[in-house]
Amino acid sequence: MKTEYLTQNEISAAADILRRGGLVGIPTETVYGLGANALDVDAVGRIFKAKGRPQDNPLIIHIPDVSWLDRYCRDIPQAAYVLARRFWPGPMTMVLPRRDNVPDVVTAGLDTVGIRCPGHALCRKIIELADVPVAAPSGNLSGRPSPTTAAHMLEDMDGRIDAIVDGGSCGVGVESTIIDLTCTPPRLLRPGGVTLEQLCEVLGQVEIDPAVRRLMAAGEKPKAPGMAYRHYAPRAPVTVVTGDPEKSAAYIAARARDCEGVICFDEFVHMFNGQTGKTRIMDLGACADKEEQARHIFDALRAFDHTDVTAIWAQCPDTEGIGLAVVNRLSKAAGFHVIEV
Ligand code: AMP
Ligand code: MG
Repeated sequence: MKTEYLTQNEISAAADILRRGGLVGIPTETVYGLGANALDVDAVGRIFKAKGRPQDNPLIIHIPDVSWLDRYCRDIPQAAYVLARRFWPGPMTMVLPRRDNVPDVVTAGLDTVGIRCPGHALCRKIIELADVPVAAPSGNLSGRPSPTTAAHMLEDMDGRIDAIVDGGSCGVGVESTIIDLTCTPPRLLRPGGVTLEQLCEVLGQVEIDPAVRRLMAAGEKPKAPGMAYRHYAPRAPVTVVTGDPEKSAAYIAARARDCEGVICFDEFVHMFNGQTGKTRIMDLGACADKEEQARHIFDALRAFDHTDVTAIWAQCPDTEGIGLAVVNRLSKAAGFHVIEV
C-alpha cells in the first residue's frame, strides 16, 4: 500500500479515507494517532494489524466535542461533565460505561470505553468532516516509542496505512491522561498532560493504578490493559537514574561507556560532551521545565535507534505535575529498571 502524505490543507481527503474505512495518521496535541472509523469493525481490525497490537488492548475513541459523549457512553456521572468542561478539548481520556453501538473490537470486549475530545484543532476538524467517531491508538508499531512528528510516524507506518496528515510537532508529547470514572474513587490509569494534581482539584480523591509506578507481577492485571506491556522501548536497554539531578548526572558520568547513550537535562550536557568519543547525548530539556521534557522524551528514545548505542542511561525528573508522565514513560522504556541515587 502506498501511504499518501497530506498537508494541513488536504484534510477533506483524510476525512474521506476515514469514512471509506481506511487508516489515517492524525496529528493530535499528545502524539500522532492511527485513526479509523470507530464504528467500522473491519477498519478498526486493520489498526491492530498495522500496529501489530495485541487484540486485548482497547482503543480510545476520539470525538469532536462533548455533545457526542452520550452517543457512545451511558450512566455518565456528573463528574465526567465537570472534567470535560475543565479539560476538553485536551489531553484527557475518560473511561465510562459504553453503549452497545461501540464495537467489541474497540473495547477489547470490555463493558467500558475510553473517550477523548482532542485539543488539536486540525484533528477535531478531521473528525468533524468525517462525521464519525475515530478510534486511534498512538501511531507507532506496538511496543515502540510513540511518534510526535509525521516523519516519526512514517518510520513505523509507511506502506501500512492509507495516508498521514502532517500537522507539525505535537505540543504535549506524551499520550493522554486516562482517568477511570467507573470506580470509586476515580482511578488514574495513565498519567499525561492533564496532571494528577489538576484531576484532584476537580475530583477530590484519585487513586493511582499500581501499573503507573511499577511492573505488573505475573497474573496481575492493570485496569488499562495497555499498561501491562513493555512499551516505549528503543532497541537498546534503558537504565533510569532518579534523585537529585546533580547526583544522577554524576552517577551516569561515572558509568556511561563508549557506545552508550545518555538522555540528560540541559544543564548536564557539558558533562558528557567530549567525555568519550562515542557517547551519544540527547537533551531532554531544562531541569525545571517538565513540559519541555515531556515534548522530547519520545524523540530522545527514538533517536538512539538510528545509532549503534548498546545501552541508554536516562536522567529523570520528580513526579510532580507532568513529571509523573515523564517518569512513567521513561520507567516503562526501561522495563522499570530504575536506580535511585
Ligand atoms: P494508546 O492508544 O496507544 O494511547 O493506548 C490506549 C490506552 O488506553 C491503552 O493503555 C489501553 O489499555 C487504554 N484503554 C483504552 N480503553 C480502555 C478502557 N475501556 N479501559 C481501560 N483502559 C483503556
Ligand atoms: Mg500507544
